[in-house]
Amino acid sequence: MPHRIDLEQLCAERGLRITEQRRVIARVLSEADDHPDVELLHQRAATIDPRISIATVYRTVRLFEEAGILDRHDFGDGRARYEAAPEAHHDHLIDVETGKVIEFVDPELEALQKQIAEKLGYRLVDHRMELYGVRADRRG
Ligand SMILES: [Zn+2]
Repeated sequence: MPHRIDLEQLCAERGLRITEQRRVIARVLSEADDHPDVELLHQRAATIDPRISIATVYRTVRLFEEAGILDRHDFGDGRARYEAAPEAHHDHLIDVETGKVIEFVDPELEALQKQIAEKLGYRLVDHRMELYGVRADRRG
């Protein structure tokens, strides 16, 4: 599912000061469609500007996350992965053998989650759904 979100523009809209290095990191994040972790982000940012340190990448993703323009995921391997906060909600299925992340939306699932919250006396405002699997056509 392509989600090309212009983080740089979102920064401007939220009044975040955008330095040259933050701009590079924002661009790398906007162009990613694979939920990269900080190390991978740093590799990509450093090919554009070798002066960008991993510490700067850490600080910048934290800043973007606090500003609500970046989502952090933990897909069970203990590494934080990032994606530009999508305009349209989606959930994730993680292939536990390859680490591949598949994005999906299921209207029935969305409705069911709302119903469960309502049954418990709540109005649903957000949720996270992660499915972990191995390919069904794989043998032994
Ligand atoms: Zn995603």
